[in-house]
Amino acid sequence: MKEARGAHERSATSLSDLQRRSSRREVRPTDQPPEGATHKDAKPVLSFTAKRRGKAPSHLADLDAAGRKQVLKDLGMPGFRADQLSRHYFTHFEADPSNMSDIPAGMREAVSGALLPKLVTKVVSLEADGGRTIKDLWRLYDGAQVESVLMRYPQRTTLCVSSQAGCGMACPFCATGQMGLTRNLSTAEIVDQVREAQASCRDGKLAGGSTALSNVVFMGMGEPLANYKTVVAALHRLIDPAPEGFGMSARNITVSTVGLVPAIKKLAGEGMPVTLAVSLHAPDDDLRDELIPINSRWKVGELLDAARAYFLATGRRVSIEYALIKDMNDQEWRAQLLADELNKRGHGWVHVNPIPLNPTPGSIWTASTRSAQEAFVKRLRDNGIATSIRDTRGSDIDGACGQLATAVADGKRAVGEGRA
Ligand code: SF4
Repeated sequence: MKEARGAHERSATSLSDLQRRSSRREVRPTDQPPEGATHKDAKPVLSFTAKRRGKAPSHLADLDAAGRKQVLKDLGMPGFRADQLSRHYFTHFEADPSNMSDIPAGMREAVSGALLPKLVTKVVSLEADGGRTIKDLWRLYDGAQVESVLMRYPQRTTLCVSSQAGCGMACPFCATGQMGLTRNLSTAEIVDQVREAQASCRDGKLAGGSTALSNVVFMGMGEPLANYKTVVAALHRLIDPAPEGFGMSARNITVSTVGLVPAIKKLAGEGMPVTLAVSLHAPDDDLRDELIPINSRWKVGELLDAARAYFLATGRRVSIEYALIKDMNDQEWRAQLLADELNKRGHGWVHVNPIPLNPTPGSIWTASTRSAQEAFVKRLRDNGIATSIRDTRGSDIDGACGQLATAVADGKRAVGEGRA
């Protein structure tokens, strides 16, 4: 106990020393209007209410096996067809009944309408990183648009999916946040992004030839935990074995959140050991209240407590995402404070991913200098925190969430353009 107090006092001293020594000017999120704002007095406004109420057409990926059978029975078709259709969809990544030779021609139209309506249509596909990254913009049934990004690495291939059209969380550094929440995606609209990526991987669309999709991260447009029930159903479709779902490993799926604490607690009880990523970006409420508006409801302490509880419930190490923004959140004293906040909740339960922000010339949202990044990472590691700088794939193709949709809406990119 005495020893623990001694360690705490030492780190408290070094934290205040660091704060005193920090002579760099500090920029605040409020120093300019939010990214993508259309007028200079714009303020980030949190919203949980979708602008659109419509629902995507029902699809087999919305349903479990029993639900699919019931739909076919209601159409007067035998239930075993549900398994056939599901295998086409989840094993062969085929969604067009006219390509399913074992489904009688006379049934295909009815099946297509009831269980396989077309949900996502490609608007733009851009390649970067020598063809190892593909970013797609999809149009949904009602004209809403969302993005997904497919990235090939030496040991894995990862898809970043969207869970909402727009987002109500209003983070001032994020173009999607300024669009507001258009609507929640349906389960099948999320799952169909994954099926498209599975087919692209198999068909060798990424440089390096045919491969398998190994990882999915919910880090595209939207706050996944604000569309909770739908996202949990999508997780089941990703994880459950065929013909129920794709049979992916839960360990290779990451759900990212800005900090909806009650939903984190609920997710911990779902019995699915997916990885939780917390977009923290600041270890102090003073800055995080401005940087991540949802922090006005759930503070840093509550969020880290929920993240720690998630680790205890699932055994999955939590990822802390930390975008390093020049002169805003990248001071060494903040690295020390972050390390202290994590260490006081235990050791080995968390991994920090500092992410150099995509540089925005002339904006306050600019990447930290290399030396600031290095000092930040060193301080975390010196305090025993597992830390790795995250790769920023696709920064030359509007890599951050929402930027591509904004660029198309602004007319900066032609629809159908093939390469960055
Ligand atoms: S950073 Fe994520 S949570 Fe925040 S506004 Fe953008 S999409 Fe929403």
